[in-house]
Parts: sequence; C-alpha cells; structure tokens
Amino acid sequence: MLHWPFVARLVIAVDGPSGAGKGTVARTAARALGYRHVDTGAMYRAVAWRALDRGVALDALDAVAAVAAAAAFDLADGVVRIDGHDVTHAIRTPEMDRAATLVARNPAVRDVLVARQRTLGAGGGVVMEGRDIGTVVFPQADVKIYLDASPEERARRRAADPAHTSSRTSDVAHVAEDLAARDKSDSTRSVAPLIRAADAIYIDTTGLPIADVVEQVLELVRDKAAAKG
Ligand code: C5P
Repeated sequence: MLHWPFVARLVIAVDGPSGAGKGTVARTAARALGYRHVDTGAMYRAVAWRALDRGVALDALDAVAAVAAAAAFDLADGVVRIDGHDVTHAIRTPEMDRAATLVARNPAVRDVLVARQRTLGAGGGVVMEGRDIGTVVFPQADVKIYLDASPEERARRRAADPAHTSSRTSDVAHVAEDLAARDKSDSTRSVAPLIRAADAIYIDTTGLPIADVVEQVLELVRDKAAAKG
C-alpha cells in the first residue's frame, strides 16, 4: 500500500466497543498513512497477563498498578511483548478478555497506561485505538472516530476472528454474552467509561465492508491534514 506523501503527523483516535472493527480499521489506516498503530486494549490485556503470571490477584489494586508501572511494553509490528514475554496470542482468550476488563477498572492502572499512551502518541503520526482515546488520552486528537456495530454483528465478527482463540469463541451466543458483559463493565465504570466524545465522528460499521470504513477514515484524515495546511 502506498504511503501518502504526508508532512502532517496527526493524532487519530479510534474508539468504540469490542467487535466494532477498531483493530482492522486502525491497523489498515495506520499502514496507509505510514503512521504508527497503537492498540491500547493490548496494553490492558498484557498487564492482566503479567499480573497473573506474577501471581498477583487482579483485585489487589495497588499490586496490579505496580506491575503496570514496572512493565516494559513492546508493541511493534502487531507483536505484543511485556517484560520480554511475547503474549501476542496468550492475551486473546476469553479469560484474558475478562481479566483485561477487570484490570481496566483499576484507576491506578489507567493512570500508568494513559501516561504511556500519551508518550507513544506525543510526536503525532499515530492511529491509537481503545475506549477512551478521544475522551481522556488525547482529547485534542486531530481526528476522532467512534466505531460501532450491532451487538449481533460484533459477536459474529469476534467469533470469526482467528486472533481470538478458544473452544468457546466459535459459539456466537456465548461470545455475545461475554461481549455484553464487557460492554456493560466498560460503559458503567467510574473512571474513563466508554462514551462517544462529543466531537467524534460516529460510524456504524454494521453490514459495511471494512475497506469502506477505512476509506471513510482516510478521507477524514485527508480533510483534516488539508485544513491544517
Ligand atoms: O480492545 P480490547 O478488547 O482488546 O480491550 C480489552 C479491554 O481493555 C476492554 O474490554 C476494556 O475494558 C479495556 N480498555 C480500556 N481502555 C482502552 C482500551 C481497552 O479500558 N483504551
């Protein structure tokens, strides 16, 4: 794919619930733009994995935050490493879905990870995906996208996603239940709940080919880059 001859190094925030298409859209758009892609959900997942790996109970709030604060992340090229462990596949199980959602409710963990995410995006030229990028991490992001899709479509996509492995993930009904529980936790938590930023562009991806969604996002970026000169 050709990189645009960009001088503008914008910050693009992509938020929304699980299965809305954030990962594919953010990754593909970043590649097209020659930008860095940062999957912040992978950071919450990796912290949950590392805490369990070190025998830290996920409800031990300070201890889990200490794991996050001490962690070395390496998120290059779609590989996720924490403290030298390649957890790319290990963090995509239903157990880790739940563990990450729990860890994400910990305000001290969020403080640590939000600071890391701001550093990662500081120079611009980044497409960052998550739940709170346009609201908390980069409220001044140049382009904010909020992706959504019907619960049925999100469950279907997640069940078909080869990155998410386990015997249960092929069962759409179970996936739908798990997604609904995570959505509820993410939207009702007291710190940085999943909400659409007032100035985010809402895209309902239900029934849309991902390539069309990427094209819409690139168009928005192109307009913004032109407006910024
Ligand atoms: O995006 P993904 O499903 O991998 O994220 C895993 C969990 O991490 C989410 O359910 C959510 O609880 C949390 N998360 C978050 N804020 C972000 C990204 C992810 O709270 N920016």
